Amino acid sequence: MIDLKDFEYDELMEFLTEQGEKKFRAEQIFSWLHKGIRSYEEMTNISKATREKLEKISYVSTLKIREKYVSKLDGTVKYLFELPDGNCIESVVMRYHHGLTICISSQVGCCMGCRFCASTIGGLYRNLTAGEILNQVIFAQEDMGERISNIVMMGIGEPLDNYENVVRFLHNVNHEKGINIGYRHITISTCGVVPKIYELAKENLPITLTISLHAPNNEIRDKIMPVNHAYKIEELLKACGVYAETTNRRLSFEYSLIHGVNDSEENAVELAKLLRGLHAHVNLIPVNRVEERDFRKGSAGDIRKFQNKLTELGINATVRRELVSDISAKCLKIRKNKS
Ligand code: SAH
Repeated sequence: MIDLKDFEYDELMEFLTEQGEKKFRAEQIFSWLHKGIRSYEEMTNISKATREKLEKISYVSTLKIREKYVSKLDGTVKYLFELPDGNCIESVVMRYHHGLTICISSQVGCCMGCRFCASTIGGLYRNLTAGEILNQVIFAQEDMGERISNIVMMGIGEPLDNYENVVRFLHNVNHEKGINIGYRHITISTCGVVPKIYELAKENLPITLTISLHAPNNEIRDKIMPVNHAYKIEELLKACGVYAETTNRRLSFEYSLIHGVNDSEENAVELAKLLRGLHAHVNLIPVNRVEERDFRKGSAGDIRKFQNKLTELGINATVRRELVSDISAKCLKIRKNKS
């Protein structure tokens, strides 16, 4: 069966004309789908005959909210969404001064193997479809009762390892007849799948690319991020440069500070040297504890020292707001119970 949300707008139009429908139906049906209807019956301006015809060959996918946590500390909402096949994924909605930002997942599990990351512990189960990626935005927005204005692909999974569905999703979520979120309000985070960075650059969408760097040299990165065995830092930065040049977007790097592994003053100096001239912004993230791993974060003082060193050496660095502790622990537990 076909999930109509897996189609891009033009493909939906083609599909509908093949079914003997007029082209303008595409606009109506696309809008309904992206408004979050749960059945064809809700498409009130579409004839019963058409709805019945569509129902025989396709369906409208949905996501069930299996658990929802609202932080008492800052209102951040964490959803555990259940997919039609029973697998679960997480999405998080955060409130910033410019509006609501959603952090979404791109895969069930992940095969990238970053040592400090909980999502990769059980390996990759499967890719999310374009419709499933989009549904996180649709149903979180519906539940929040408020427009979501920004998207970051920083949840479970490696977006560039599910390239085709992610690009399909990007086109759809940006479409003016759908949710219509501007590309400039969308960020994709990658651990550095270099060939796909070049491919994404060719799409020439002005989305922000953020690189999970986490190390100032290959020696450290090899130890904590297996992807570095395939693509060394030099190759990665070269691809980033091409991306920035093609899309005219500033680059951003994530750097999780792991105590005793990558957070010394020497590491900061080396990182600054590496990123000099790239006009990059560095997001420092105190590493979140994962039960199965023994990585620890440094003290607030250590983190500030690292940040100050970068700033002193001309690299723009901020410390990212941590996922509030009262809800982050809960989801890790559920994920483990599922596996
Ligand atoms: N696969 C993509 C996106 C998902 S992870 C990527 O690697 O970028 C989103 C970010 O959280 C990445 O920078 C990732 O390295 C980081 N991250 C994962 N586990 C973490 C942990 N335990 N503490 C801090 N950051 C973590």
